[in-house]
Amino acid sequence: MFAAGSNVSLADISIDTPVDKMRFADREVFVKRDDLIHPDFSGNKARKFQFFLTQDFPHINKVIGYGSPQANSLHSLAVLAKLRGWQLDYHVDHIADYLKQNPQGNYLAALNNGANIVEKPKHVSGNLDSYVSDLAKQASANEIYIPEGGRCEYAAEGLETLGLQILSWMHQQNMTRLNLFLPSGTGTTALFLQRFFKRYLPQASQPTVTVNVITCSCVGGDNYLTHQFSQLTSQSEFHPHIVSNGTKYHFGKLNRQCYDMWRRVCDSGIEFELLYDPVGFIMLEHFLNKDYKAETVDNTWPVMYLHQGGLLGNPSMLARYIRKYGQ
Ligand SMILES: *Cc1c(COP(=O)(O)O)cnc(C)c1O
Repeated sequence: MFAAGSNVSLADISIDTPVDKMRFADREVFVKRDDLIHPDFSGNKARKFQFFLTQDFPHINKVIGYGSPQANSLHSLAVLAKLRGWQLDYHVDHIADYLKQNPQGNYLAALNNGANIVEKPKHVSGNLDSYVSDLAKQASANEIYIPEGGRCEYAAEGLETLGLQILSWMHQQNMTRLNLFLPSGTGTTALFLQRFFKRYLPQASQPTVTVNVITCSCVGGDNYLTHQFSQLTSQSEFHPHIVSNGTKYHFGKLNRQCYDMWRRVCDSGIEFELLYDPVGFIMLEHFLNKDYKAETVDNTWPVMYLHQGGLLGNPSMLARYIRKYGQ
């Protein structure tokens, strides 16, 4: 949509994205291309941070965030801060020496966008979460605090925009039932989407339009993900359906099955990302199997995969894969 490497401006960011099709597991799978929002500001991070792009914040001059130095959200926050003319202080546990000496991927992109990436002081005990939320409590009125990965109510605005786009696409297709599949980290994207569809669509005994959000856990186990959902809502009817094939894939760890799946889905002509999407497609294939049984969802419904961006991290991850498994 936009040339890679271009400077981002607010006017460049189009949050309406196309829907493509691919063949997968003997099915037609629709792909919502949120990777195309903008090369420097894409995927679910762009959706989750939409609120901070569209509202006026006359008094703010600084944003405080935290997470991994390789995270997609670091890159997106850096771009957001630059667009708004804010300083970004992004706190991390530790930056590996290798990364400091060879900045790359999201870390490099964030530095190039002026991010101030700060390691937690060695003498501070306790985890990064509580350290940064304590810092945030002392923040001035000119500073805004965004929890890890945009896990906060603000994220709902952009995800509701996305939900509306999906409903209007379904309407154009005369489609009344959809399984929307996406892999989860914190689960914020999946949960806010499911909550939106439940609240927005009338829940009569014969609902006219239904969207079920189906997800899988990529960072902790299923219990961790359910716990994350409960932190975001006390209403369990808003929880997305979690698919698992019983295997636990360790986040960021190289895995042959993940690599093979990634190459297989990239053959469709769409480039997917290498951390979440391989697990996502492994679980989607499991879900689409005719023997898959669940009480609350029906795997014969049309299915849409949400492409959540994150492609900037691919080159460094792919280099690791090629070193381990070859081309
Ligand atoms: C951040 C991210 C996720 C996880 O999103 P959550 O809302 O934390 O579940 C999934 N895929 C990609 C590409 C991401 O960047």
